[in-house]
Amino acid sequence: NQIGYPLYRLQIQEGLQIQAYNDPMTGLFNFRAFKENLEEELKRSHRYSHKLSIVIFDIDGFKLVNDGYGHPVGNRIVAEVAAILRQNVRETDLPARYGGDEFVVICPETDSQSAMVLAERVRKEIAGFQFHAAKNETFKLTCSAGIAAYPEHAEREETLMEAADAALYTAKRLGRNRSICA
Ligand code: GH3
Ligand code: MG
Repeated sequence: NQIGYPLYRLQIQEGLQIQAYNDPMTGLFNFRAFKENLEEELKRSHRYSHKLSIVIFDIDGFKLVNDGYGHPVGNRIVAEVAAILRQNVRETDLPARYGGDEFVVICPETDSQSAMVLAERVRKEIAGFQFHAAKNETFKLTCSAGIAAYPEHAEREETLMEAADAALYTAKRLGRNRSICA
């Protein structure tokens, strides 16, 4: 017991730590983890003069999924999109749930052209996927992506996120189901 007690406390602490950085619906990093990862990775990129990109994805017309099939189906689709995202990025990339139906991937050592390749791979994968509403009912979804790179488009966390957000907005405005670089 004397040994077990502190170990037990350590396990609780570790569990809380994981919870604090995890998005429970998708198992991806949450926004807080994304921010801390980005700060850390940008410092590293700056120090070693390496490139870094971020890609923000947003599901197109996701409200229609909720309206048409209900919120529980919407929740499952968010988790499925997250799984597709995880399967289509490198092990060194850091995918996170940005919030709602938005996801973001930090790609260390990656320039904007390579980030575009990643974005298009994920986008095409989602566009080709058969999502299940009910047992025998499937439907299609698309997403849009915004890409921004360090140091090409911005040097700081906030400006890099703004640049990727603006690119995503352009992708939406141009008709959705596309990837746009800042
Ligand atoms: P757009 O193409 O402009 O992105 O259209 P959209 O309908 O996807 O609109 P927007 O991205 O602005 O809003 C996302 C909506 O997704 C808002 C909310 O109703 C829904 N949503 C966000 N998070 C969740 C979630 O975790 N579960 C469910 N079921 N719905 C969510
Ligand atoms: Mg959306």
